[in-house]
Amino acid sequence: MIDIAIVGGGAAGFFAAINIKAKKPNLSLVIFEKSKTLLGKVKISGGGRCNVTHACFNPTELVAYYPRGKKELLTVFQKFGPTETIEWFKQRRIELKKEADGRMFPVSDDSTTIVNCFLNECDRLRIKVEVGAGVQQIKQTTNGFDLVLNNQNVKCRQLIIAGGSSDKLWQQMAELGHTIIPPVPSLFTFNIKHPLLHDLMGNSFSNSTVKLLIDKDLQKQFQLKKEDIQQSGPMLITHWGLSGPAILKLSSVAARLLHYLDYEFDIAINFAGNYTTDQVLETLIKQKAETPKKQIGNTALFGLTNRFWIRLVEEFVDKEQIWIECNNKLLLKIAESITNSSMQVKGKSTFKDEFVTAGGIDLKEVEFKTMESKLIPNLFFAGEVLNIDALTGGFNFQAAWSEAWVMAENI
Ligand SMILES: Cc1cc2nc3c(=O)[nH]c(=O)nc-3n(C[C@H](O)[C@H](O)[C@H](O)COP(=O)(O)OP(=O)(O)OC[C@H]3O[C@@H](n4cnc5c(N)ncnc54)[C@H](O)[C@@H]3O)c2cc1C
Repeated sequence: MIDIAIVGGGAAGFFAAINIKAKKPNLSLVIFEKSKTLLGKVKISGGGRCNVTHACFNPTELVAYYPRGKKELLTVFQKFGPTETIEWFKQRRIELKKEADGRMFPVSDDSTTIVNCFLNECDRLRIKVEVGAGVQQIKQTTNGFDLVLNNQNVKCRQLIIAGGSSDKLWQQMAELGHTIIPPVPSLFTFNIKHPLLHDLMGNSFSNSTVKLLIDKDLQKQFQLKKEDIQQSGPMLITHWGLSGPAILKLSSVAARLLHYLDYEFDIAINFAGNYTTDQVLETLIKQKAETPKKQIGNTALFGLTNRFWIRLVEEFVDKEQIWIECNNKLLLKIAESITNSSMQVKGKSTFKDEFVTAGGIDLKEVEFKTMESKLIPNLFFAGEVLNIDALTGGFNFQAAWSEAWVMAENI
């Protein structure tokens, strides 16, 4: 009988194992990983650089990045958040650096630094790790759990489920009595075919607002607030449609609704961010007064690229037309196109191979002071197996580190 079995040799499993053994070196603990690769997702994360965390040090602000898990993570982050994560790695001689957008990476810009740190810690703390050891069945016993693996049977007193998004593990947890919120994809880009975007791949918008056009009943049914269905931020035209932070945020916040709609829905875009149609019209009228003889096609406004600006104005006027020749009715049409263009989304694409799953163990059934199941004593959870997910930017790993640390403190 071992003291603690950890199912899953990924981010959450390793962070839990290391922190538990550092605190209680005499416990017997084994990580069981079904594949031959340890920390596979950490290795490929952040484009091979591993976006370890985000420079957001106020727990109340931090939880806003989690469409699912906001409420539950607040106390977890108060105990172990990005500040503690930076310090944890520093104590192991790994410095993290902050990029302009707040994402934090190892200074080496290499995810191997993080993988090796975990593997070295496992050696130092004599943590046993078994690869090719998939847990196939879990039975609760009077003094712990019986695990059936593909290559052996194991008995343990306490069990940590850190298997990420795994249908099989969720199925087993359901058999033990847990509720599983059905998994759906989160963090994806929108497939759109629209004349405004055609052949303009690579054109970007420094600030845009994207709004879901759905009826109020659906919005209510999926418990989405007004501010949820409208997201702002940079946006990018891709080969398939639209991507960038504004789109990814919307895909994450509305993940469940968009899945329900089978990824076919309408959006309205304001390419000028927060400017209203009236404000944009005012600017166009001012421009006409200031440069009456200039060609419209040569006067890209609102930070729009020249190519996009020409595409947009050519819906209504010739790009060689000069401002004075353009009456205010036409200017209003241009202003409306800038601030309120509707587009049909048909399908989704993966963002840079990075995806997370919304769904998993129902959070109501987990005690977040300890990460223990409220239904089954001595059963613990951390990482993507839970119904918690976040926007891109280092937040998903931060949740895994924080949950694993809180668990290790209390196990
Ligand atoms: C391409 C990509 C890039 C990403 N980049 C970032 C990033 O830079 N920053 C960020 O914050 N997030 C990133 N993410 C998200 C992040 O990787 C996950 O949120 C995180 O890995 C979750 O950790 P986890 O330990 O819960 O799951 P995982 O890391 O998926 O680990 C779970 C492990 O459990 C094993 N397992 C499953 N079932 C069993 C079983 N029955 N028996 C034994 N073992 C089992 C799996 O093989 C796996 O190794 C990225 C995701 C992807 C796909």
